[in-house]
Amino acid sequence: MKDQFRSSIILVLITLLIYGCNGKTGSADYPIQPVPFTSVKLTDNFWAPRIKKNASVTIPIAFSFCESTGRVKNFEVAGGLDTGKFVGIYPFDDSDVFKIIEGASFSLQTFPDPKLDAYLDTLIYKIGMAQEDDGYLYTNRTIAEMHGGKGLHAWAGKNRWELDTVLSHELYNLGHLYEAAVAHYQATGKRTLLDIALKSANLVSKDIGWDKLKVYPGHQVIEMGLVKLYRATGDKKYLNLAKFFLDVRGPNGEQYNQAHKKPIDQTEAVGHSVRATYMYSGMADIAAIEKDEAYLNAITKIWEDIVYRKIYITGGIGATGGNEGFADPFVLPNMSAYCETCASIGDIFTNHRLFLLHGETKYIDILEKTLYNSMLSGVSLSADRFFYPNPLESDGQHQRSAWFGCACCPSNVARFIPAIPGYIYAVTDKDLFINLFISNDAVINIGKNKVNITQNANFPWDGKVEVVLFPEKNKKFSLQIRIPGWAVNEAIPGGLYRFAENSSEKYTISVNDQPIEYEVKNGFAELKRKWENGDRVEIEFPMPVRKVIADERIKDDIGKIAIQRGPIIYCAEWPDNNSGNVLDLVVNQDASFRTEYVPALLDGTQIIKTTGFQTIKNLNGTIDKLTEEQVTLIPYALWNNRGPGQMMVWLPVTTESTRPLPAPTVAFRSKIRASKVTKTLSAVNDQIEPENSNDHSVLYYHWWPDTNKWEWIQYDFDKPEKISKTKVYWFDDSPGGGCRIPDEWEILYLSGNIWMPVKGKFPYKVTKDGWDSLQFQSVTTSSLKIKVKLNKEFSAGIYEWIVK
Ligand SMILES: [Zn+2]
Repeated sequence: MKDQFRSSIILVLITLLIYGCNGKTGSADYPIQPVPFTSVKLTDNFWAPRIKKNASVTIPIAFSFCESTGRVKNFEVAGGLDTGKFVGIYPFDDSDVFKIIEGASFSLQTFPDPKLDAYLDTLIYKIGMAQEDDGYLYTNRTIAEMHGGKGLHAWAGKNRWELDTVLSHELYNLGHLYEAAVAHYQATGKRTLLDIALKSANLVSKDIGWDKLKVYPGHQVIEMGLVKLYRATGDKKYLNLAKFFLDVRGPNGEQYNQAHKKPIDQTEAVGHSVRATYMYSGMADIAAIEKDEAYLNAITKIWEDIVYRKIYITGGIGATGGNEGFADPFVLPNMSAYCETCASIGDIFTNHRLFLLHGETKYIDILEKTLYNSMLSGVSLSADRFFYPNPLESDGQHQRSAWFGCACCPSNVARFIPAIPGYIYAVTDKDLFINLFISNDAVINIGKNKVNITQNANFPWDGKVEVVLFPEKNKKFSLQIRIPGWAVNEAIPGGLYRFAENSSEKYTISVNDQPIEYEVKNGFAELKRKWENGDRVEIEFPMPVRKVIADERIKDDIGKIAIQRGPIIYCAEWPDNNSGNVLDLVVNQDASFRTEYVPALLDGTQIIKTTGFQTIKNLNGTIDKLTEEQVTLIPYALWNNRGPGQMMVWLPVTTESTRPLPAPTVAFRSKIRASKVTKTLSAVNDQIEPENSNDHSVLYYHWWPDTNKWEWIQYDFDKPEKISKTKVYWFDDSPGGGCRIPDEWEILYLSGNIWMPVKGKFPYKVTKDGWDSLQFQSVTTSSLKIKVKLNKEFSAGIYEWIVK
């Protein structure tokens, strides 16, 4: 007995030594622990107002859209509290409600609000009623079953779980439920939603597993959710289920949802980028908790693939809209950049986890870049308009929306913004990491030493940071201050982007006004000492305006520079520059850059001024520079707060890489009319030629979703013109899209008030990936019309229509 007792004590000691003791789980987790946002009170002028607006504007309107679009009613009907059919477009609409509950729970901890708290109670009651007796929760199926199976969504599958690998999103919804449940439990101490989540997770674990139904989620997120349930309860069943959902994935599935290989065999970021980043985050959790080398290796290689080859200068990821995801390496088009807001948030989740695993600043460099640029662009200053894609260039076709049919992005913003203070600090028993520079008051436990900390900064506009420490006990610990890559001449880890010139300005660190000695380890300045009450650390990061150059393999950025100051990427936008045009600009590469803070602009922002030229095409095809003028740049994330219009991040420095103003051709001088007027009608005479019929970097005009009829576009000239030639370039997004080259087309001219066909010896050819030219007997006319016969099943579109 004694020996047994002793050996079990030794076992416990060994377990503690190996795994440490973290929270309720009593086993391993991340070696570095985040400091929760609840311990950090922001006092800054940049994020604090945004978090407040998220609480007062975003969360209430997101809930009201959930009510008005029927998302809440679906729970009421499924729970027998109301009658009717499933309302809405997608079976994953349930997830939006869960995500906003998560955001509201976070928000309640900063802004206590009894009304919101009570609203959540009601909502959670409805969700509980909608949950079936055995724990199943998916309003579409439950409602359909009430109507004898009628109204079952085509994606849902006849039986539970059977289509989850593809389309049903049952497990996706539940992943968001689990995350919301833990957030609500931590915020309020109420178990209501947590109990619903556990009942659901117990059913999933009863139905699905190695010796049961072997399915993996078609859209990942449940992996992270289950890990949170495991941390909240200490029940390993949930952790095992999370690992199962990763291990059961691949190798014979789709690349689109990262099931083409087993996750541990994946080395490249492919497919849908939100699914991908959620999976990578889940993999990091497993790598941390299970100390799983295979997961660790895979996630490291994937991270390098993203950061070295597939990320935009703004931190945006997922270049293409067709798959809402990753393209080939170095394929990073600017105007058609997808960069979904959710993917930015997912990538922040992944990079934060990788930092907690490795303690290296390079992960926070990506996190900070994404946070201040691509993610923040996803929401308007008014906090009630959202971008789904976040392009780096616009001809005015982009505008934030109040809501979307697929509302993943607004609900993701609603839950992400309140949690931002949680990314500032992290700790071990002997280290305090300062990752982000945002003014705040925080209370942090470093081992058993409680430390109050005050950070004063005017980030992101000013590089001066003051940190004052108030430890309960004067004890030794390491203050680990992140030295951002941009402060040491590194535009991005790995060199996909680089600064055009090295800056000789150095950052400085002092303690109590005295310079000190320190080592830089993993990118952190390590200040190891016995810290005393009131010790004051001053850091100054120089913030000169930096010119950024892209790897030459990124075709869209050749001959261009981007402008960065601190973590902020800048853009030229229409209201600040020459009568609304910016895409035709060439900036002077050697010009000086001036920067100033403008309190009245965009709620207060640092702008940058330089000089450049507008360019214009001549009728003979050459490009002229117009007179030199001032070019004003604003932070990229703040664009599109003054209406839609032209914007660009990558600024041409050569005339070859710009998009000059169109030459004054007959087509350009004419007024365009069409059978269907859309925002992109002006594409047909903008003189921008696509590379092929499916080039999404160039604007096109289309009649989608119309099919099987004649449509037309007409040029009205300001005076009668003699015309004898025309050519047209068709849009065709086969095989995936809804447009094809048309069945036929015809050119008509206005003779008196009668439309006559042009005459000549020609067949009307219809060509994909090239021009269709036509020469005809010259006509003198005031209007020319192109008639287009759409295919029976497909619509059509036009890039350019030239007349001579
Ligand atoms: Zn989204």
